This record gives sequence, C-alpha cells and structure tokens, in this order.
Amino acid sequence: MRDPLARLREATGRRTDAGLRRRLRPRTPDHDGLIDLASNDYLGLSRDPRLIEGAVAAAREWGTGSTGSRLVTGTTELHAELDRRLAAFTGSAAGLVFSSGFLANLGAVAGLSGPAALVVSDQVNHASIVDACRLSRARVVITPHRDVAAVERALAERDEEDALVVTDAVFSVDGDQAPLAELHTVTRRHGALLVIDEAHALGVVGDGGRGAAHAAGLSGEPDVVLTLTLSKSLGAQGGAVLGAPEMIETLVDTGRSFIFDTALAPPAAGAVLAALDVLAAEPGLPALARDRARRIASIAAGLGLHTSSPAAAVVPVVLGEPTAAVRGAEICAEHGVRVGCFRPPSVPKGRACLRLTARASLTEFELTTLEGALAAVAGQVGPYSACVTSGPR
Ligand code: PMP
Repeated sequence: MRDPLARLREATGRRTDAGLRRRLRPRTPDHDGLIDLASNDYLGLSRDPRLIEGAVAAAREWGTGSTGSRLVTGTTELHAELDRRLAAFTGSAAGLVFSSGFLANLGAVAGLSGPAALVVSDQVNHASIVDACRLSRARVVITPHRDVAAVERALAERDEEDALVVTDAVFSVDGDQAPLAELHTVTRRHGALLVIDEAHALGVVGDGGRGAAHAAGLSGEPDVVLTLTLSKSLGAQGGAVLGAPEMIETLVDTGRSFIFDTALAPPAAGAVLAALDVLAAEPGLPALARDRARRIASIAAGLGLHTSSPAAAVVPVVLGEPTAAVRGAEICAEHGVRVGCFRPPSVPKGRACLRLTARASLTEFELTTLEGALAAVAGQVGPYSACVTSGPR
C-alpha cells in the first residue's frame, strides 16, 4: 500500500524544484520595519484610530462574534446598516453583506445564474470568480482578457435564455481596468446580467472612491451587480453584493455562501462603517492612492522594467520566471521594501511578477527608497524581455 502522504511529498518536491513553494512568514505590526508595498491597505485605513474605535465599539455592544448565520441571529442592526450604507455609497439600489469577498462572488455568480444559464468570464478574473463559475454548474465560456467582441459572440451564439457576464473591475495582479461601459452595452443588448467585482476599485477608483461602476455610470442599473471586498481599501474584512432588490432577495433565499455561512463579525462591520465615514470626511484619499500608483509605475518604467499604467493602486513589474520574481522580491526586502511576489497559478506561466501596491500615505522618502530597490532589481535580475502572451490559468 502506498503511503497516502507520499504523493503529496512528491508533488511538493516538484513545486520546490520549479520555484513554486509558498511560505507563510509571520510579520510584526510594523511590517518587520519594511516599507509596505505588498498589502491591499490602499488607503492605509487598517490601523486608522477611527476604524479601530469603530471595531472596539462594535465589539463592546455586539460581541466579538455574530453568533449565527444572517438568517438566524447573525443580522445585527449593524449589519443592516452596513447593507444600506454600502448600497448608498456605490449608488446601488440594495446591498447584502457577506463574510468575505470570496463568498460574495460565489453567491452572486452561482446564485444569479444556475445550470440552465451561460456564464461568460474574463480569462484573468480572480480565483473566487473562477470557482464561482464552476460552482454555478452553468455552461462557462472563458473569453480573452478584456475582449468585448468575444463576450458579444458568446452571448449572441448562446442557446440559453439566461446569461451572466462577470469581470473584475480592476484586475488583481495586472492592475488594468475592464472595459465596463462597453461590456454593459453588450450585456444590455443581449439580455444578460453584468457582475462587476469592485475588489480593487472600491475606495480607489471614481469620485470619492465609489468604484469603477459608479465612475462608468453603471451603478444602479437594473442589470448590473457589484461585488465588493471590505478587506482592501476599507481596511477591515468582509464582502458584499449590491444590485436590484430582486437580486438581493434571490440571494437571501437561495445564495448558499450567504445562507450557510456565519455572518460577518461585528467588529469588522463597525470598522467598515467607520471607514465609510472617513471616506466621506476625506474624499481626496482615493486620488492620493491613484497618484502614488502612477508614481510607482513611472519609477519602474524609468528603470526599464516591464510595467503598465495602473487603473487603481496595483502596479505589476513582470520578471518572467518564478525564480526571477522570488529573487526580485528578496532584493526589494534587502533594500527595505516589501513587495508581493506572484507566480503561477496566480499569474500565467512565464509572467511571474512583483506586485506593488500604492498607499495614499506613501511619502517621497519611501518612493525614493523604492527607486533604489527597483534599480537593484533591474541591475541584478534584469528587465523582463520574453514576449509571452497571457494564457488561461
Ligand atoms: N475578488 C478579487 C478581485 C480579489 O482580489 C479578492 C481578494 N484577493 C477577492 C475577490 C476576495 O475577497 P476577500 O479577500 O474579501 O475574500
């Protein structure tokens, strides 16, 4: 009989040889003394005293846990307020808070499609959308990145009556934006729903950080659904689906990742409500984050590194092979900067990269330190030169 763990050890060995091992490295509260260009704390709110106070006050009043699923005891007055506030903030008719963005995507895509529907998904959509497509049991068509014509063809050629198109608003590693207005024209023409994942756009893109759909004039449209994570620019944890009341009622009745999951912990809800207050009081914060992202991209491009112009706070520096990306991240750390290191399957083969994330509070000194770090990367690892086109993950 084969040792049941032998297969896992062999596979781990193969990942080690390919430079694909991932390690959990516990950090200190101050990011081990490094400049943080790796987190998704785009507005620097996760340690903001106002959010901490919101979380503490919520814990005092409601406890540390929500005590149950939202349909049983988990919907506190705080959750109901957050449902409403998130809908109002993004310009949507109704909202529903989930306990993560991942679960919000599972709920929206699977809950609003089904085995008789067609689901069309961009090839670089986030893993939670990929899993949501599988969970939907719908026929799934994966379209080339940002290819509106391919989306239209899939919708036009379908036999299914119901169809749903799903896209990241801002793509999580490449940092580019989906052609939302064009996609909506096509989904409207063909009677399909458009689901937009605002994870990396909320709090960064659009007037006051109301998101990419709001900026494109799409929020509040009856055939548009937004999904959010509350864990990035809003500095806490959780997710939400926003859309027409009919959609929200459907998810309350049938959304499995909503119904069978314990509701968001009250301190997270309290922190997000405080984050929305901060955004209302400081509407210039999102533009600051966008400005810092553009500065990071121009530093990288100036050094001959392979980057692209960022739609929000995410700036990729493509280095090619996994080992190059790992070495690049090490060099950055040696120069005092923490960056993300993304390898397959998080990115397509041959496109391993550093993922740099801007923060509204980044200082000139921090940007100068980054320039030194990236200059060392360009010198020691070299700019990415292979011409590799993105493939499906
Ligand atoms: N969508 C996108 C585009 C994301 O990047 C993420 C988080 N990495 C999620 C959804 C999932 O959100 P959460 O972390 O709140 O589960």
